[in-house]
Amino acid sequence: MALWLTLLVLVGGLLAALIWLAGRYESDQMQERVDGDSRDAVQDIRVGLTRNLQSLQALRSSSSQWQADASDLLRSHRELVRLERRGSNFSLLNAVQSPFLLNVPSSVSTTPRDLPFGDLQLTCERARRASSPVYTPSYFSPTTTSEGLELLDLCIPLFEAGQHMGYVVAVYGLKPLLVEMVNKQVRRGKEISLTEPDGTRLAIDGIAERRGRLFSGRQLLDLGGYTLVLRIDHWRAAPLLFPNVLTAVVALMSLSLMGVLLLLGRDINRRLKAERELADALAFRKAMEDSLVTGLRARDMQGFIRYVNPAFCAMTGFTADQLVGCKAPMPYWPPELIDEYQQRQAIRLLGNSTAREGYESIFMRQDGSRFPVLVFEAPLIDAKGVQTGWMSAIVDISEQRKMEELSRASQERMQSSARLATMGEMASLLSHELNQPLAAISSYATGTANMLGSTPALPPDEVSHALSRIAQQAERAGKVIKSVHDFVRRRESSPEIVSPQALWDAVMPLVLLQTRKLGVQVKLQGIHQAPAVQVDRTMVEQVLLNLSRNAIQAMEDVAANQRWLTLRVQRLDKTSPWVEFAVIDQGLGVQDEIAKQLFTPFFSTKSDGMGLGLSLCRTVVEQHGGSLRFEAHPPRGTAFIFTLPIAASVDDHRLLAADITNT
Ligand code: ADP
Repeated sequence: MALWLTLLVLVGGLLAALIWLAGRYESDQMQERVDGDSRDAVQDIRVGLTRNLQSLQALRSSSSQWQADASDLLRSHRELVRLERRGSNFSLLNAVQSPFLLNVPSSVSTTPRDLPFGDLQLTCERARRASSPVYTPSYFSPTTTSEGLELLDLCIPLFEAGQHMGYVVAVYGLKPLLVEMVNKQVRRGKEISLTEPDGTRLAIDGIAERRGRLFSGRQLLDLGGYTLVLRIDHWRAAPLLFPNVLTAVVALMSLSLMGVLLLLGRDINRRLKAERELADALAFRKAMEDSLVTGLRARDMQGFIRYVNPAFCAMTGFTADQLVGCKAPMPYWPPELIDEYQQRQAIRLLGNSTAREGYESIFMRQDGSRFPVLVFEAPLIDAKGVQTGWMSAIVDISEQRKMEELSRASQERMQSSARLATMGEMASLLSHELNQPLAAISSYATGTANMLGSTPALPPDEVSHALSRIAQQAERAGKVIKSVHDFVRRRESSPEIVSPQALWDAVMPLVLLQTRKLGVQVKLQGIHQAPAVQVDRTMVEQVLLNLSRNAIQAMEDVAANQRWLTLRVQRLDKTSPWVEFAVIDQGLGVQDEIAKQLFTPFFSTKSDGMGLGLSLCRTVVEQHGGSLRFEAHPPRGTAFIFTLPIAASVDDHRLLAADITNT
């Protein structure tokens, strides 16, 4: 603001000085012109007087001729008021009066004149002595009108062959002198006057309008010992605003300059405002970037880091200075992964990857510790639409990973507890199941022992038959125990490709334990044709077992001959990536109020139920990307349906076998 004020003051001062100088220049010009005019005027008078002098000297000497010549002269020279010829004793011989000045008083026209006469005679005496014409000082002569006339006499001594013959006296009127001798051009619009050296005005010509500024020029008019001053007064009418064109032009330019300055000022103001807004926007953006928890990193097309935000620095432990300008291998790349990352980056820099989805990576902190990150990369496009590099958003997912690990561990714990719980429920069934082979073994053993005791010669066939039956039963019992062991045993949880049949086979012994007790029949549909799935086997087996167990339990109140458990496995259509498993019972169905809470953990309608089965099933299925739902299965019963992903490599490989119905 202060700068602006200074600039304005300076420009204002400059303009004022310019206008003033232009005005000065103009008045100097004017003054010079007036001075020139006065010089010209004096010159005109001098020339005129000299010319007249010659004419006067040329007047012929005889009285009549002189009279005639003088009259001619007076007619052609209005500045001459009167001509006299005097004898050597100063006696008046001839006198001719100007025909134009009729009001000249007699005192002038008659001789001798009173006061001036003395002067004249003295003057003539001086002229005779000097043998050259001499002018008298001017004198006032009243005229018949009130005006009066300022006159001046010129005395010319006449000599003939060195003999003084007399004088010619010419009387000049000062005003006519000005009017007749000074060029009209010079006189126009000005006041031109003859004054005494002390300023007393003697004669004046022209009346100028006394308005505006006065320019006056003075010049001495030397008349052989007697000096008059010629003065020209010129009033320059004051202009309304600007004295003249130059000043007007300067003023106009000044105004334009001020205008331009104003516009410039407005423009600068606008720019300043835009700059301020830009700075605000930048500050806002910077604040946003700084407060982001997502790391940002920009790389140019050559792979050099051009920008990292504070979150990225905090994540890796390096400062922005350490990172900006770096090229692969980056300081935050774990040394053991440098090769892999370099290849990855080379592919990206080639522009082959346009995917915007994130990929997981491992970064290294400055202290050497590794942490997992999710990197989203996108091309960096400038305002002209040209790609100038790559912009990446990096999210530290170590916390997320920890949580996932925790929840996975707790899931696993829950799964295994659920498995144990299932086994607990099945303990009586198991004891019953084991009881049979054990009882059979025991009876075969007792029978054989009895026979050995009572019949001395027992045929070896009988003994070996009995022993093989014992072995069979022991094997049966062993199988039961193994199936339980297989199921409960913790296995490595990792996705593997497995056929639906294999899944079923793993749980079938346990399912059969229950079905047998309640007399439920099991129907398998499409399980042999169904494609293999890629799943965490242990978990999915648990799902199958849970759903089958629920289905069997739901049929407890149903007539014994209507207890059917169906397992239907099918791929929905040829292109679908899912295999659908449906566990269908013939039970009484799920009531509406129960349906709402079915998947809520710890919800159970059974006295000994834990209420975890279905919620675990859903979690497992969803972890595989599938979904679990249930629907009524008309005419009676419920179908629990879930989907699992088809194993990519065995997509088209079907296990071709006939649809078998197992009981
Ligand atoms: P739990 O079997 O320990 O009770 P679940 O989560 O497996 O726990 O089942 C929750 C409830 O859902 C059961 O108590 C039962 O009332 C109901 N339910 C589950 N499966 C069926 C089914 N096939 N038919 C009817 N009701 C069912």
